[in-house]
Amino acid sequence: MTTAYCAVCGWSRETGPETTRSDLNRAMIDHHVETGHTPIETDEERPVSDEAAGADEPDVEWTPVERDF
Ligand SMILES: [Zn+2]
Repeated sequence: MTTAYCAVCGWSRETGPETTRSDLNRAMIDHHVETGHTPIETDEERPVSDEAAGADEPDVEWTPVERDF
């Protein structure tokens, strides 16, 4: 999967079942034309950001949602 994101405003797009690589490129161009920003393209699943780096917690507890009917 390829992800494109904008470091300026947080805009992001990724390739998927209905979004091809060329759709992604076009979206990046559209964003550049509309805002003047230059989106960054990456093959990583998640764009690297300061927020993600700061929220790195080694001990993540998974709490299942249980419901009694
Ligand atoms: Zn932007």
